[in-house]
Amino acid sequence: MKYLQTATGEWEVVIGLEVHAQVISNAKLFSDASTKFGVAPNENVSFVDAALPGVLPTINSFCIDQTIKTGIGLNGTINLVSHFDRKNYFYADLPQGYQISQYDNPIISNGYVEIETEDGGYKKINLERIHLEQDAGKSIHDQHPTQSYIDLNRCGIGLMEIVTKPDMRNAAEVSAFLHQLRSILRYLKTCDGNMDEGSMRADVNVSVHRPETPYGTRVEIKNVNSIKFIVSAIDFEVNRQIEILDSGGVIDQETRLFDAASGKTFVMRSKEDAQDYRYFPEPDLPPLRLQQSRIDAIRATIPELPRAKVQRFQRELGLSFYDATTIVAEVEIADFYEKALVANSNDINPDAVDEDFAKLLANWLVVELFSLLNRNGNSISESKVSAENLGELVMLIKTDVISGKIAKDVLTIIWETGKNPATIVEEQGLRQITSVEAIESALREALSEHIDKVAEYKNGKDKLFGFFVGQAMKKTEGKANPQMLNDILKKLLSE
Ligand code: ADP
Ligand code: MG
Repeated sequence: MKYLQTATGEWEVVIGLEVHAQVISNAKLFSDASTKFGVAPNENVSFVDAALPGVLPTINSFCIDQTIKTGIGLNGTINLVSHFDRKNYFYADLPQGYQISQYDNPIISNGYVEIETEDGGYKKINLERIHLEQDAGKSIHDQHPTQSYIDLNRCGIGLMEIVTKPDMRNAAEVSAFLHQLRSILRYLKTCDGNMDEGSMRADVNVSVHRPETPYGTRVEIKNVNSIKFIVSAIDFEVNRQIEILDSGGVIDQETRLFDAASGKTFVMRSKEDAQDYRYFPEPDLPPLRLQQSRIDAIRATIPELPRAKVQRFQRELGLSFYDATTIVAEVEIADFYEKALVANSNDINPDAVDEDFAKLLANWLVVELFSLLNRNGNSISESKVSAENLGELVMLIKTDVISGKIAKDVLTIIWETGKNPATIVEEQGLRQITSVEAIESALREALSEHIDKVAEYKNGKDKLFGFFVGQAMKKTEGKANPQMLNDILKKLLSE
């Protein structure tokens, strides 16, 4: 559904985002104070961050490298010359009285992120720019009945502001964009993307208009800190704007806040314009000039990014789109999978990846290991089953050493004991029974105990086949090769 329909006709929704992504770096953008999260208030504050008179900013070149890397990963143009500007405003948690930002000459221009659409295709969400700026501190209002406290730990941390074009048309596209962006930043290791810790935040600009007419007036919803809340905020805001327009009103260009408890947005202030900030070139910093060689060197360090990896997993490993995207979504999961794959591929064929093994491994990771992780409340990096051990376990299934059913038990034992799968299989005698004689004798025994049911089966009660399989499996303690058991049972029943 492309447009929204109301009694007065169709509406198109337009959304653009300004994503603030904290740069992963040990030190702040213009000072050497630490960026460590979760320490005591005001522990990570240098004279520069506190804006003591006479101190000067010095640029942290690692933050520049990280931003260049982000720009390349997001397909942007890296500008060889950019400069910093002062954005002036008063706020208690901004001791300088201005934020050092980039206004008309950002370090990165253009770029795009490709998102998957609901119809299974791809859509490009274009970026306007990525500029570098300082984060502000935090005011804390809930610690004292009449006073507010200021924590400057965050003050001066490098922030990349990633501004999209107004290219998104519904909340689902926004959610897909943010998931994809976060995944790319994590692959690049330039922002940890933790929205709950505030290291990635988004301002959401929303407007509605009649199809084939100019865009409507946008409303900006500030600093929403989870993708789920962003989706709710958009849904609320779209309805609010359409109701106003349907009843003949106009939309004010304003900044609103989202309240998670009520699911509503509230006016914060009327929207300020660029001139309200009295931007001017930052006199304490020279223009930022980059050498092409530096950019080329960083380009060489860009890892394989999520979309390319999904496509390769589908093409080279034969994974389904679902498995490939599930595994690739988090870089730790993709790393785990590839480690498991590499550690065990050589056994079968040193030159080519075995597609059956790759698919089976994907399935065991996404279904069995994920459910163990979920049950224990662990993330993949806390998995008590190593990548090597998962790969080895799947190889034992693939090579018919154990059945899939037994393998589930082995997986749990690995989780509990840390032992490797081959050892567990030997110690507990779990090796699959593949001897025709042994399986046939278990079957004959089972059938002889249920002569009445065998008769019923022969009279057409086909369902009993499974019952016989179960009985014979019991006799082999679940270790009979299931395929052989089926084949031999068929033969015996037709005798
Ligand atoms: P500001 O800092 O004033 O908010 P920016 O240029 O940084 O301005 O950001 C503008 C944001 O608003 C961009 O993400 C852009 O895509 C989005 N935007 C612009 N026009 C519209 C519109 N009519 N409807 C929705 N979003 C819009
Ligand atoms: Mg804005």
